[in-house]
Amino acid sequence: MKLVYTDENRFFVNNIKNILQNSGIKILVKNEFTSSVIGEVSPTDGWLELWVADGAEFEVAKKIIQKRFSEQGSVDWQCSHCSEKNDASFDFCWQCQTEKNRQTA
Ligand SMILES: [Zn+2]
Repeated sequence: MKLVYTDENRFFVNNIKNILQNSGIKILVKNEFTSSVIGEVSPTDGWLELWVADGAEFEVAKKIIQKRFSEQGSVDWQCSHCSEKNDASFDFCWQCQTEKNRQTA
């Protein structure tokens, strides 16, 4: 197994996880439940980690993630619900999870 993506923000990681799963890649999620352990984990220990099988799936996953990030910087969007700024690559507001396309034109 290889670590393909991790971030302090669990919503970012879940976003990537959904993208990869929608692409048919099998994901192993580590540290999924450590956030419920209060006071016992250091910040980095609690980071959600996405692991994929070594080999072809890892390469495909890497490309998908790179493509996703290369699309960043295009158009950020502002949440219609909480006014939070979201990266262009997110389909849901990272803060309140309102759908991107639900915002008024
Ligand atoms: Zn929001």
